[in-house]
Amino acid sequence: MELKNKRVLVVGLGKSGLAAALFLRDRGARVTVSDTRSAAALGDSIPALLEAGIMVEAGGHGLLTFRRQDLIVVSPGVPLDTPEVKYAQQLGLTVIGELELASRFLEGEAVAITGSNGKTTTTTLIGQIFSDAGLRTQVGGNIGLPVIELIAESSPETWNVLEVSSFQLETTFEFRPKIALVLNITPDHLDRHKTFELYQAAKAKITANQGPNDYLILNAEDVAAQRLAAKTEAQIYWFSGGRRIKQGAFVHGESIFFVAQEGGKPEPVLPLGEITLKGAHNVENVLAAVCAARLAGVSAESIRATVATFRAVEHRLELVKTVAGVAFYNDSKATNVDATMKAVASFPRGIHLILGGKDKDSDYTQLGPLLEERVEAVYTIGSAAEKIERELAGVVKMVSAGTLDRAVADAAAVAKPGDVVLLAPACSSFDQFENYEHRGRAFREAVLQLKD
Ligand code: ADP
Repeated sequence: MELKNKRVLVVGLGKSGLAAALFLRDRGARVTVSDTRSAAALGDSIPALLEAGIMVEAGGHGLLTFRRQDLIVVSPGVPLDTPEVKYAQQLGLTVIGELELASRFLEGEAVAITGSNGKTTTTTLIGQIFSDAGLRTQVGGNIGLPVIELIAESSPETWNVLEVSSFQLETTFEFRPKIALVLNITPDHLDRHKTFELYQAAKAKITANQGPNDYLILNAEDVAAQRLAAKTEAQIYWFSGGRRIKQGAFVHGESIFFVAQEGGKPEPVLPLGEITLKGAHNVENVLAAVCAARLAGVSAESIRATVATFRAVEHRLELVKTVAGVAFYNDSKATNVDATMKAVASFPRGIHLILGGKDKDSDYTQLGPLLEERVEAVYTIGSAAEKIERELAGVVKMVSAGTLDRAVADAAAVAKPGDVVLLAPACSSFDQFENYEHRGRAFREAVLQLKD
């Protein structure tokens, strides 16, 4: 891809937009950045951009800005149906995302991990397994470091382990990971993708350019992930926590096994008892990581050693503290109904569940049967509280706590030794917090103040 003297517009000045703009500038492009936020809101990044010779359009998008370009790079936070982006597409301009741009320059192989839930946990685990095994590894993407920033250090021997969201995949065209993983596809982000079909189509792009020498790792228990099997040219490896698999990873008895090819002998990889992460969903994440690591040539012994020392990523079903015999778990990252179900399913009973935040057009009635079975009481917070209370009325005891602090205090007051207080809110955090990390930290602080 030739960038010298090309006019390139970067839409959206987030972390990856900023990285993209600076990268394009370094490659000799004539770069403009456009963001709907005001110059004041964009703050610190503007002087650095101007100094690098990048033009900045703040406080809205100008149609003209979108017209005079050779290439448009949209940030994952910018919906593709933004009128100016649609206009540029109608004019026939090339519109891509940061992942697509980066992948044209990234050296080495990519392992790309997508799914509605479990991406960060699995990406972190795979990165750790690869680097412990001595592979030259970089981790990035949706997880933090923009993929663009991995380019400088990449070489033909590098394994680039990338967490990729549906928003990032939506704007790819040639992206071809050597190993692609689809952990699960459950309804999420429907506020942005509009329909479940469109959301699935975005996820399917992870394998769209894969060929017969590439690998696609799929969850055998996930109906939507299964559908991808018919849409790929890659070799398929399955994983399942429930049944024996012909090619891939599965649980049998109390251990995880891997079968390298159909008809092959299952190889024992690790005993389930050595996994420190909680819940059946995390066993699935480990199974997916086992497939990726074995396909990259990491030995079973090496995988086993890393899994045994791997701890929960912060805000993902993380034990904060046990106070007076009650365990407080922070799963602030459970921002959709499916993640909340997995969290609740990780404990047999005695759960005090904190639900609520900003609703994402979710259907909370799905939680009903599981809550009835395992949950002592639900403590609602945030703007979704009323909807949750309505949809789960009569299923379980409901306490309108309003705020997270109140919910922690109310739950702590009634929980008995052996019980669990679980923040797995099934909603995003933006009504009361900056983001889910902020919410998770607020939960931790409230818990640490409780008297033992
Ligand atoms: P993502 O990056 O896809 O959001 P995370 O690893 O950050 O994934 O986990 C997000 C939420 O989903 C957390 O609440 C976590 O406990 C839960 N979770 C993790 N793995 C899975 C899985 N395989 N299936 C369902 N939920 C999961």
